[in-house]
Amino acid sequence: MLTIKCAKCKTKLFKYKKIGQGRVLRCWKSKITRLYDGEVKGQNFVCGNCENIIAEIKDDRLDIIVKDLLIPALKSENNCLL
Ligand SMILES: [Zn+2]
Repeated sequence: MLTIKCAKCKTKLFKYKKIGQGRVLRCWKSKITRLYDGEVKGQNFVCGNCENIIAEIKDDRLDIIVKDLLIPALKSENNCLL
């Protein structure tokens, strides 16, 4: 289980049930187990605190926009900064 956080303000965005290793480039809506402080704004999913744009919303998934800020989901603390 990953806790996805905003890289700018460290606000918790959502909890994601990740299967396998590697980077999170897409987040399937069905695997988001808990929503914290994320917000839907038009086509985008933004941080509820600083409005940093996290992802683009598609039918069944979120496509992560800030790929260069992603930390591989291999760290022991299970945090992923977006
Ligand atoms: Zn933020």
